[in-house]
Amino acid sequence: MAAFRYFPPNLCSKYMWTKQQFWQTLILVSVAISIACGILLALEYGYLVLLVSVPIAVVGLSVKYLFGRTLTESKSRAELLGRHVEELSHYIADQERMGKVLQKSEEQFRSSFDNASIGMALVAPSGKAFKVNRSLCDILGFDTEQLLTIPFHDMLNENDREIFALNLGKLLSHKETSCQMEMSVNGFADKLIWLMASISVVHDGTNGTSHFIFQLQDITDRKRAEARLIHDALHDALTGLPNRVLFLDRLNVAFKRAKRHFESNFAVLYFDFDRFKLVNDSFGHLVGDKLLVSIADRLRSILRSSDTVARLGGDEFVMLVEEISEVGDATVFVDRVREEMSKPFDLDGQLIYITVSTGIAGWSRKYERPEYLLRDADTALYQAKRLGRDRYEIFDEQMHHKALQSLQLANDLHRALEQSEMRVYYQPIVLLESGDLVGFEALIRWQHSIRGLVSPAEFIPHAEETGLIIPLGEWILRESCRQLKAWQLRSDEYSNLWISVNVSSKQFLNTDMVSLVADVLEKTGLSPICLKLEITESAMIENLDHVINVMNDLKKLGVQLSIDDFGTGYSSLSNLHSLPLSSLKIDRAFVNQMNEGGESGEIVRTIITLAQSLGLAIIAEGVETSDQKTQLQGLHCQFGQGYYFARPLDVDGIEELMSNSIKDLHASYPLPQTTPVTTANVD
Ligand code: C2E
Ligand code: CA
Ligand code: CA
Repeated sequence: MAAFRYFPPNLCSKYMWTKQQFWQTLILVSVAISIACGILLALEYGYLVLLVSVPIAVVGLSVKYLFGRTLTESKSRAELLGRHVEELSHYIADQERMGKVLQKSEEQFRSSFDNASIGMALVAPSGKAFKVNRSLCDILGFDTEQLLTIPFHDMLNENDREIFALNLGKLLSHKETSCQMEMSVNGFADKLIWLMASISVVHDGTNGTSHFIFQLQDITDRKRAEARLIHDALHDALTGLPNRVLFLDRLNVAFKRAKRHFESNFAVLYFDFDRFKLVNDSFGHLVGDKLLVSIADRLRSILRSSDTVARLGGDEFVMLVEEISEVGDATVFVDRVREEMSKPFDLDGQLIYITVSTGIAGWSRKYERPEYLLRDADTALYQAKRLGRDRYEIFDEQMHHKALQSLQLANDLHRALEQSEMRVYYQPIVLLESGDLVGFEALIRWQHSIRGLVSPAEFIPHAEETGLIIPLGEWILRESCRQLKAWQLRSDEYSNLWISVNVSSKQFLNTDMVSLVADVLEKTGLSPICLKLEITESAMIENLDHVINVMNDLKKLGVQLSIDDFGTGYSSLSNLHSLPLSSLKIDRAFVNQMNEGGESGEIVRTIITLAQSLGLAIIAEGVETSDQKTQLQGLHCQFGQGYYFARPLDVDGIEELMSNSIKDLHASYPLPQTTPVTTANVD
């Protein structure tokens, strides 16, 4: 291309070449003529003439030769020039075409800039826009003039400024040519707007930046939807409190901080509301839900900004209490929670009182993982529940040890069932008036290979927790019915004896009790009237509707039903009335305290009066003294069971009793206080 600069474009190379060719031909002709003339003259005037004509010819030929060379050079130069001129004209045509294209694309850019549906801005390196489109005004709610005066940076939210400046810096330094980022800006009236920004840089051709092109898309709706999704994933839908995931996240942060800073300390408080299920069962789930929302509100109200309260599910709440100096400080929060919860909840005019049990686990360096604190707070809560609810317990190593032990026990129980280590013991029940043996209560025992006989008080709660109570309960029902039938068949004397079998609420809830009982009766041939099922008052109350249905079906089979441990639960009279019961068992705690003549005597009297008015038979359990027996007799209590008559005995013990001394049981009645009729002591 540079060659064109040395050759003016108006040079006519073809013409020049023809002119030179003409002169060359003329010289050649002149030389030829002068040679011919020279020869003629030499012939005419002698060879001296050659002295003149030869140099002339030589000169002429030299001129021709030189002229010819110049002519060849000119010719090739002329050809080169011709090519250059051709290229030049192509170039000029290209330039013209490009100019038109440029003009067109500039118009197109302007039009698409103005009419783009996304916001666009041309922004000077200073950060101020010098051109914005309509859409951007619509998105941000400002008019063009405003947008041209407010530097873009100033509209950005504090959090996004740094990364924005960083990104522009990269573009200015030519490290990148474009970038993308999400950012939030304050639009008109400080409205929060989320934008997806694509920023490209335009260079000015001298290694500097001419301007930026901002393409800005409103993504506020998407961001809101995203934020809602994240919120929902981390919060409980009912109460709006953080859920387990968020709680564990905060716990994790507190845990790491405490690991780093020696003086940092925190505790996890695990709350469970006592007998919450009763609220659901009595007032319905809607009221239960309202109560949970109110509980959440009260928990929130006592929270400091540094703490977190979360709902883990059901009526279980946890609190992360930070900035404490020792775990004991956390009890202040528990007291506050208990105080808040002690005020009645007014739900649609219904006043509800509720108590709370709490487990506390304090941070210590021994913890390897944050979730272990939650686990230990749960263990402490379990302990608080066991020790009577409406209280708190602080986790200690002993509790951990106990928890491990109970895990071990649960494993052992599995094995015990498989290896037939369970035994049934039978405790006689007598007619108080005559001392006649009327039946037995079947009581389970565990013949442990190492520990010997293990009391049910120790393993029944575990069996209930683990669900093992279901196979265990089925086994004792089958075994005791089979045994009673065998005894009944020995003598007519025993044909009316009954067997009382304890049934756990889990069995009522999770199995088809009716089919099971029907099957047992069919297989053993035991008359239904001889089977009495005992269900505790508390178990009944917690699942009242379901229990009533099952009880009605069992009643239809002809089986007798009894409430166990009566007086320890919260049965209302109306409940009692609606149950298809045949008897009540007075809890031994009341019977035991009768001698002292105090309140308990009164309670027993009231229970007996109540049972009589409902037409129910009464069995007093835990009768240990002759005095208790006499008092009960005076109150017209029909049946008694207790160490005074006999302790629970194994099959051999009962058979011995029956063969030798069933009459002794009558004859020895009333027995002296100091010599209860027992053959084996198993408790
Ligand atoms: P429970 O149903 O109230 O059984 C009566 C308990 O009182 C028995 O304790 C019995 O040994 C004890 N007892 C009887 N007379 C006296 C007395 O004069 N003084 C004292 N201090 N105690 C007396 P046991 O056998 O240790 O059973 C404890 C509890 O374990 C039972 O209380 C019952 O709730 C549960 N249990 C026992 N066997 C079974 C079973 O097969 N299934 C279920 N679900 N629970 C069972
Ligand atoms: Ca019982
Ligand atoms: Ca009982």
